[in-house]
Order: sequence, then structure tokens, then C-alpha cells
Amino acid sequence: MPELPEVETVRRRLLACLPGLLLREVVVNDWTVSAQTGAELNAYLAGRRVTGLRRRGKYLLVDMGRPAEEAGPASGGPAAGRPAAAHDGPSVAVVHLRMTGQLVFRPGPGERPARFVWEFAPAAALHFQDVRRFGRLWALAPEDETAFFEARAMGPEPFGAEFTPGYLRRALEGRRAPLKSFLVDQRRVAGIGNIYADEALFRARLHPLRAAGSVGPREALRLHAAVLETLQAGIDHEGSSIESFIDPAGRRGSFQEILNVYQRTGQPCRVCGTPVERVVVGGRGTHYCPRCQPRRGGMAAGSRSRRGAVTPPRTARPADWEALDR
Ligand SMILES: [Zn+2]
Repeated sequence: MPELPEVETVRRRLLACLPGLLLREVVVNDWTVSAQTGAELNAYLAGRRVTGLRRRGKYLLVDMGRPAEEAGPASGGPAAGRPAAAHDGPSVAVVHLRMTGQLVFRPGPGERPARFVWEFAPAAALHFQDVRRFGRLWALAPEDETAFFEARAMGPEPFGAEFTPGYLRRALEGRRAPLKSFLVDQRRVAGIGNIYADEALFRARLHPLRAAGSVGPREALRLHAAVLETLQAGIDHEGSSIESFIDPAGRRGSFQEILNVYQRTGQPCRVCGTPVERVVVGGRGTHYCPRCQPRRGGMAAGSRSRRGAVTPPRTARPADWEALDR
């Protein structure tokens, strides 16, 4: 599933090709992709130029200008049903890739069926391919954006000013949920999913089943740094192409090549050589090194019965940790 680094990669690539282009029409081939009709989407988006691209958590935001004069009064065609005088100001398109969504930019027709296509003038198109069909598209007025994300109770952006070690400590306090569940909860911090949660916990040397509230101040500091380092490494490697992620140019990311624990069950830990283990936490496959991420401190409810013995703590040599590939 695309997480913050993958969506950020998509944003950066689209930034090189979309701004300035005139959106002629949004063609919806699968109506389940949006709660809005094709006519409603076009009323907000057709006949406008792309002015910018932003990201909020795992959401991609495409900023559109006011209706362009050269687009004419019926841009998108009368069939698009663009009501006169509706949404005359700028607008915002919001895309969530969810499990398998891919935005592919190309001049001609797509190779695979697209759930929606943005047709630009002159000829260019942005295809939304999505095998599992969980991805979604919204079109809104800029003044409705705050309410849109408030309704989704989004936590702070990891790279934003609000996500400080102090914030993380306060957010962890008193929570009985396992650390893994805490990290993937978008209300606590936005943008982290399965891959980067497992990798950040490994980097922080914290067991995924630790109760979030049991994390001490120094551990919270370590976790804060690990979250930022892991996400930055993901961005630097242009995302992880484990399942289906490709960027808008059809290229794959390379973060999967330097994963420490995610989907490496049974393989030796890159630091200590102990086989990586897998547990299911909150319905998610979770990968960790039992030696580098010892079971110490308070464990989340029900987790202790899974394994009888508590793995003796052994601190990995600092040199090993410094040598970790970023
Ligand atoms: Zn290890």
C-alpha cells in the first residue's frame, strides 16, 4: 500500500509534468472511484489549469486554478454538465491511492483499464489504474479542505513543525495499543503504514507489541528520530515497489532493496543475524528482530501469551547500527 514516501514520490514526479496543463475533462470509467458524479467532478475540475501539487499524509492534492478563459464556456463539453457559474473559484482534487492505486502520466491511451482519466489539452492524460479498486477521488473548493481532513481526524505531518519529540511523547502517554497499531493510526501521525511502521520500530529498537504508553522519554526520542529517518530513506529511494507501486512515469522505487525487517520473515537480521520473526498485530503482518527489538517494558494486552519466553535483551553494538544502510 502506498504510504507517505510513495505518495511523496508521485507528487514530486507529477510536479514535473502537470502544473500549467489545462484539464479538458475528467472521464470516470468506474463510478465507485468517487462519491461525486462525473458531472460534479467536472464542475470543479474541468476547464482549469493545474497550479500545484501537495500531499497530506497519504493523500495527494492537486490544486486547480479558476476556470481558464481559453477553455471556453462549455469546457469539458456540454455532456460533462458543467453548471454555469458553479465553483468559479479555484478548486482542489484529492486522490487516495489506497492499496493498489497508480497514477500514470502518458501522452496517449493507457495500457490497462483506468478507473478515471484526466484528459489534458494539448494531448496528455493522467490515468488512474487500481486493480483492487479501493482508491478514491474527491473534488472540493479550497475552503472545504480543512473540514475534509478534520472529518478524517488526521494527525500531524511527520515532517511538519507539529510533529516534535514532545508531541510524540504526549501522544504515546497512557495508550495501551501496541506500538505497531499506534504508528499506523493516522490520527496519531499521518502517512505511516505497514512497511514504514515495521522499519521505524526496527530502527528505534522497539518491539512492535510494546504498549505505546510504556515507552520512556529516551525511547520516544529514538522512535521520533527513527520515524523521520525511515520515511526520509523511503523518499530518497523513491518509495518501495513491493506490491504494485510505480511512479507516474512507470518507474519502480528501490526502498524494498534495503528493508531491514518488512517481509523478511526467517531471513537473518542485517544487524545481529537472528532470524526475523512475524506476528499479526491488529490484523497486520508485523516483522521484527527478536534480539534487536527485545520484549521489555510493558507489552500490549494479550501479547505475552503468544510466546512463553521473554527474549533476553541484547543491545546491538552501536557500530552495527551506525552501519545501517539509509
Ligand atoms: Zn537483530
